[in-house]
Amino acid sequence: MKRLLAILLIMLVVLSGCADSRYSRDFFSMDTIITATVYGKDETELVRNEVERLDSLLSVTNISSDVAKHNRGQKISDETKKLIKRCEEISTLTGGAFDIHLQALIDEWDVANATEPPSDAQITKALDDKSKIGFGAVAKGYAAACIRKKLEDAGVESAVVSLGGNVMLIGNKPGAGAWSVGIQHPTDESALICTVEAADTAVVTSGGYQRYFEHDGVRYHHILDPKTGYPAKSGIISATVITKDDTLADALSTAVYVMGVKAATELYRGVDGIELIMVTEDTVHVTEGLDFTLEDSDFKLEVIKK
Ligand code: AMP
Ligand code: MG
Repeated sequence: MKRLLAILLIMLVVLSGCADSRYSRDFFSMDTIITATVYGKDETELVRNEVERLDSLLSVTNISSDVAKHNRGQKISDETKKLIKRCEEISTLTGGAFDIHLQALIDEWDVANATEPPSDAQITKALDDKSKIGFGAVAKGYAAACIRKKLEDAGVESAVVSLGGNVMLIGNKPGAGAWSVGIQHPTDESALICTVEAADTAVVTSGGYQRYFEHDGVRYHHILDPKTGYPAKSGIISATVITKDDTLADALSTAVYVMGVKAATELYRGVDGIELIMVTEDTVHVTEGLDFTLEDSDFKLEVIKK
């Protein structure tokens, strides 16, 4: 009887541990829907506060943000200075494909509102103007890195936070091993192109399909090639980077999209601890370190060796 009671108690603890320990919250910030799921204790408010703090600090449109201050030539915080320095290092690593000093060009294109492309003269002029910064390609990843630190400091051992194309994973899914992360199909919104098993890492996807406008039958998307001033045309339609550093993952996903498969493969071979998924018109190129499942059999699979 005593034993039965003990088993019953253990079962109750296990069950309550499973049923009560998952806390989820959706909110809108940084121009996207953010979903935070935290296991063990409800720290979802902490996630929201941190995202909102960083949105106020890094948004290019908020006139009191550090970015707006920088672009007006005013003083900024040490935190933002540190992020600028980190971004400049990543820019070097990518041969300039990722560049936070492109904001004049990004404003000229204004892809979210435009109905036609700027003229060549406007593009050349904006490309030469390196005075304005923008963190559009890295703010969500940096936010993910800050959230990770806050949650870990609060003792959280298992969480998943999704910010637009950025997924931040802490630990494993309780009782289920690695998380299974689906990567959106670049040409079919309702489907997945592949899934990856991942734990304690960032999984970040960039794609031209995420934001674009069309003019005279031509599609103009939001990821710009700093070499040409035009939307990148590298042959990649979706680029995913998996690495433990959330900031690096976000910056590199944008860079890989610009660089194309060949240059990104060289980058992969030169940097430890990163894995890539690059989708081109008919092929999914995957680096060998991933636990990966192709979900669309119309695509060929090409494995890239280190
Ligand atoms: P992501 O979705 O992370 O790839 O970031 C795309 C956003 O980053 C764009 O909407 C622009 O604000 C900005 N951006 C576009 N091209 C670049 C680039 N080559 N380097 C850095 N930021 C860029
Ligand atoms: Mg990015």
